[in-house]
Amino acid sequence: MRTVGTVLSRWAAATGDRRLVMASPRSFCAGVERAIRIVDSLLQTRQAPVYVRKQIVHNSRVVHGLEGRGAVFVDELAEVPDGATVVFSAHGVAPAVRADAALRGLDVVDATCPLVAKVHTEAKRFVRDGHTVLLIGHAGHEEVEGTLGEEPADTVLVQSVHDAERVQVRDPERVAYLMQTTLAADEAADVVSVLRERFPSLRGPDSDDICYATTNRQHAVRAVARQSDLVLVAGSENSSNSRRLVEVAQREGTEAHLVDDAGQVSLDWLARARTIGISAGASAPAEVVDEIVAALGALGRIRIDTHETTTEKINFTLPKEVRQQ
Ligand code: SF4
Repeated sequence: MRTVGTVLSRWAAATGDRRLVMASPRSFCAGVERAIRIVDSLLQTRQAPVYVRKQIVHNSRVVHGLEGRGAVFVDELAEVPDGATVVFSAHGVAPAVRADAALRGLDVVDATCPLVAKVHTEAKRFVRDGHTVLLIGHAGHEEVEGTLGEEPADTVLVQSVHDAERVQVRDPERVAYLMQTTLAADEAADVVSVLRERFPSLRGPDSDDICYATTNRQHAVRAVARQSDLVLVAGSENSSNSRRLVEVAQREGTEAHLVDDAGQVSLDWLARARTIGISAGASAPAEVVDEIVAALGALGRIRIDTHETTTEKINFTLPKEVRQQ
């Protein structure tokens, strides 16, 4: 392990400034902003505690910040007292969870991202039309569990090309696919291509389920990775979309790491890097990126450039329970 002094002397010895290339867009998407605003607003207007089922978004900084203000994160509804306010996270829930909450008389405020809710709607539509739904995604992810729960008897999880080559369906003429919103687009395309070969009548979503924010962040980090020696992605370990950004950068042949905060940046990585790309998952706050940039600036002279691949102007309306307050 190199020391700070070793890295500093290496940075100083090489001529010229180090260059940071900031991927844009990065950090919060509209669905995450909406979910955080919902909890934030409830904390201001209702008596604490406000319960939240699962992490509202997959980021430790966000979760700890809301906990500090009175939010209580629980894994299951059984941990929520009768009659209390409970928020469903941005990743969505299965209908069984909604039914349980109704039975318990819980005061539910739903922070499911509208783009995740759209995938649920499509799953129901396809099954109503007699299709088996092949859901491309990762087992155990909360979004996948919620979508699988819509039509469990007619939905099969497909996690890989290997799964796509083997999955069995009731009627090969009536098969549809849907996708977890945070997948890497190129990986999902490989799976869809295998499914299409096996099931020529395969139907798909109206538009790609991989959401605009996921797509935009992946395009931006790919462009940045192509011009960098190292890519740092701000995001928590359990954030699917942040992990996919790391993988997209690595597929460009660039060393890339996920860091939850500036303290996780290894000096070993920096010693080798002259151009460092920076991105952040859709659930990672901009302040984490600012702290990483400040930490790099403290190690030696840096020049900061931005590589913008598109601009985002999407906003989602808040649920009526919050709008009416
Ligand atoms: S990444 Fe996309 S689907 Fe997920 S919360 Fe953000 S906008 Fe919604």
